[in-house]
Amino acid sequence: MYQDETLICEDCSKEFVFTAGEQEFFAEKGLTNKPKRCPECRKAKRQRNRKKLYDVVCARCGAQTKVPFKPRGDKEVLCRDCFNAENAKHQEQQTPQEEV
Ligand SMILES: [Zn+2]
Ligand SMILES: [Zn+2]
Repeated sequence: MYQDETLICEDCSKEFVFTAGEQEFFAEKGLTNKPKRCPECRKAKRQRNRKKLYDVVCARCGAQTKVPFKPRGDKEVLCRDCFNAENAKHQEQQTPQEEV
């Protein structure tokens, strides 16, 4: 059985609890390392690592929009509205363009 364990955050040096549930989750994922950071620092790190967004102009309606990938000249980039409208039309050819 797992037991709650108190760890010290590598970033802010605060104590945080590595709960039994988290330990089980880590073990299920095959992770043997303990978390090095407290949940807040982990969250902050995730936010820093967020994908860069690129400013593009929608090929359909001309609206300014942002996409999480570098636009390529040979591919039409659509704003969310046009993308959704396109998806509704071609359900079977769905290619996720943005995380929701
Ligand atoms: Zn921390
Ligand atoms: Zn559009």
